[in-house]
Amino acid sequence: MRDVVAIWLGRLAGLLSRLLGRGGGTTMPGVIARRVAPHILTHLTRQLPRGVICVAGTNGKTTTTRMIADSLAAAGLRVLHNRSGANLTSGVTATVLMGADWRGRVAYDVALFECDEAALPQIVRETQPRLVVLHNLFRDQLDRYGEVDTIANNWAAALRTLPTSTVVLYHADDPSLARLANSLMCRTVGYGNDDVTSARDSVAHLADAGFCRCGAALIYSVRFYAHIGHYHCPNCDFARPQPAYALTQVTAHGLVGSHVTVRAPHASCTLQVPLPGLYNATNALATYACADQLGVAPVVAAALAQMQAAFGRYEVITAGNHQLVMALIKNPVGASETIRMLVDAWAAPVQLLIIINDRDADGTDVSWLWDADFERLSGTTQQIIVSGTRAADMQVRMQYAGVDRQQITRIDRIADALDALLAAAVTGQVVYVLPTYTAMLELRAVLTQRGWVAPFWQD
Ligand SMILES: [Zn+2]
Repeated sequence: MRDVVAIWLGRLAGLLSRLLGRGGGTTMPGVIARRVAPHILTHLTRQLPRGVICVAGTNGKTTTTRMIADSLAAAGLRVLHNRSGANLTSGVTATVLMGADWRGRVAYDVALFECDEAALPQIVRETQPRLVVLHNLFRDQLDRYGEVDTIANNWAAALRTLPTSTVVLYHADDPSLARLANSLMCRTVGYGNDDVTSARDSVAHLADAGFCRCGAALIYSVRFYAHIGHYHCPNCDFARPQPAYALTQVTAHGLVGSHVTVRAPHASCTLQVPLPGLYNATNALATYACADQLGVAPVVAAALAQMQAAFGRYEVITAGNHQLVMALIKNPVGASETIRMLVDAWAAPVQLLIIINDRDADGTDVSWLWDADFERLSGTTQQIIVSGTRAADMQVRMQYAGVDRQQITRIDRIADALDALLAAAVTGQVVYVLPTYTAMLELRAVLTQRGWVAPFWQD
């Protein structure tokens, strides 16, 4: 009874916040419902015949979750998915509420939750997932989350409450996740990159999990990016485990994506990854591993072929006479990888807009700008416009990155910066925007006003 009241009140709150124009109403229903019925998430998800899947990681979790969602849907499953990106406990609860009918029945086969790093332990405890994907763990917004080790310890504590039948899929190239997997009682299955030729130079100061628990510095025979690679400890027996699922060949096709070969326990296959960069090849690998564990691996190739870029992370928007490529940046490793991926694909100097906000959802500390590899942009652009609440910081950062001062223009207002960007481009030219999270939302609002994208809750 309490649950039913909670559902009504929660959905009413969502409706009101939508009517009042307070955005998509993607978390408010969860906040209200949990106040009325604290165990509602547990009660509702218990009805799902194929259970709950949780996906967590600092980078790539949105894309990976969407790849998994599309694959499960292609297999004919009814998937409840927090597609709007509301990935805290309240957002996950809201997703399930909106998927329930007015009597509290949830007519889905499986729930798939992208989980915020800090929220994962509570979501795991409340939903008792049958499968958890641990994708990576990077230094990210330290003011909010604390150190990587703290997060890993919190994850491990929650995962130890799961039955031994639960499968934990983890990225074996990430030493903190391999160490975490070692400490669990449930079934752990690794995935990783065996194609050592896809490794490229990497920036030493980005490595943030470089030490073994015994205190020795890990030695890498191959490093793909940051602390992701083939590692071992020179002092104890800790080493990268041989993954059950592996990329055995990665062939990049510029901005279009890549072609990968995957070795699985019982088969191998090839996949066309619809998004560029080694990151996305790894996202596709995690998707394949997840689908295989659920018995639906054969649909993944077709699902990926159809897939669109995950909301906001990397998308191509037609803006008047131009194509606008927008890629979210939010922490040093993700930003560095995104920049590398873009610079890789640029055949000629481009028009670029970087928008840095420092609102709560972005992390109020912008010192991370100094850890991200903006140096790579030097010599690759015709013009860089910097905008957002921290445009001035970004302007200084780009000067230190070696970009000619003449090429950097500061325009604080996002709408004006967008106008300048498009005005500077010739007809048909592809322009690039790198926004932080709230900057991306603001930019989308401007694009929506101009009729170029739909409001995000219609996504
Ligand atoms: Zn060691």
